[in-house]
Amino acid sequence: MRITDFEYHVPDTLEEACALLSAYSPGAAVLAGGTDVLVDLKNDLVTCEHIISLRKLADLKDISYDRKNGLAVGALATHSDVASNKTILRHYPELSEAALTLASPQIRNHGTIGGNICSAVPSADAPPLLVAMNASVRLVGPAGERTLLLADLFIGPRKTVMKAGEILTHVLVPPKPAGTGACYMKFALRDATALAVVGVGAALLVRRGVCTGARIVLGAVAPTPVVASKASAALIGKKIDEATAVEAGRIAREECRPISDVRGSAEYRRSLVETLTVRAILKAAERAGLQ
Ligand SMILES: Cc1cc2nc3c(=O)[nH]c(=O)nc-3n(C[C@H](O)[C@H](O)[C@H](O)COP(=O)(O)OP(=O)(O)OC[C@H]3O[C@@H](n4cnc5c(N)ncnc54)[C@H](O)[C@@H]3O)c2cc1C
Repeated sequence: MRITDFEYHVPDTLEEACALLSAYSPGAAVLAGGTDVLVDLKNDLVTCEHIISLRKLADLKDISYDRKNGLAVGALATHSDVASNKTILRHYPELSEAALTLASPQIRNHGTIGGNICSAVPSADAPPLLVAMNASVRLVGPAGERTLLLADLFIGPRKTVMKAGEILTHVLVPPKPAGTGACYMKFALRDATALAVVGVGAALLVRRGVCTGARIVLGAVAPTPVVASKASAALIGKKIDEATAVEAGRIAREECRPISDVRGSAEYRRSLVETLTVRAILKAAERAGLQ
């Protein structure tokens, strides 16, 4: 299969990148690591006459943290950057752990957190945990800058609310109050280079042994990441133990809307949601207790 001809642009600044994207949309695509978009171009899933590379926008690789605002990860940070960054390992180790569930070292060295989000593929690994942790995204476009909750970005498979000319610049993860624990659990058909059959992100806030905040997010079981609000609510006011986790897992199973495809039947996915939800809750609770 051959990629059809396109014009390749390498802007020096973010403003220039937005202007090019805006001028050539809808016939333009951003190129970050290229691990999704080049495959899609080859498979004729997207067509575009203009590719706008972000490779000169070095600032968008930065990862920074402060106690007041939390973590800011530049959209061009690769999954390997997220997995190995000292700040993330210290303050958000669950994000490093989740990054390591994705693909293989080769893909992690190229694929970016921004690309994973903007692709809006239902099985993507970064969104479930980030949504569970109440992350936001910063978008910059011709009309200026806006920040929105990551949960509100996705509207369907490969569809987001991003407007023509908008570029995702940062993923923002709020500070974690003491007593927070989070975890991502993924099931795939192989250990490496396999998309999630199901992915579950869980973030809990535990105070004096009682759960006071919970957010469980299910990936690959609906067109967009699903906040399992009933399962999350079932944990509030409870001591997190095997029984409460099992009950929340049962509820999450009812809340998801999986399809059957080559990676698994809908029923298999429901069972996985139940199992992974229990495991994610118990691991998140263990981490909350350790803080
Ligand atoms: C062999 C293989 C295995 C894989 N395994 C996994 C896996 O296990 N889990 C998983 O989640 N994914 C997996 N992927 C998918 C892919 O690697 C990830 O989604 C990756 O994070 C995409 O990032 P990228 O930088 O390569 O994006 P690109 O391919 O450069 O871009 C992806 C899309 O997002 C847009 N885009 C990129 N960055 C921005 C930005 N900053 N602002 C606006 N739009 C932007 C592009 O225009 C394009 O539409 C796999 C891919 C391959 C080829």
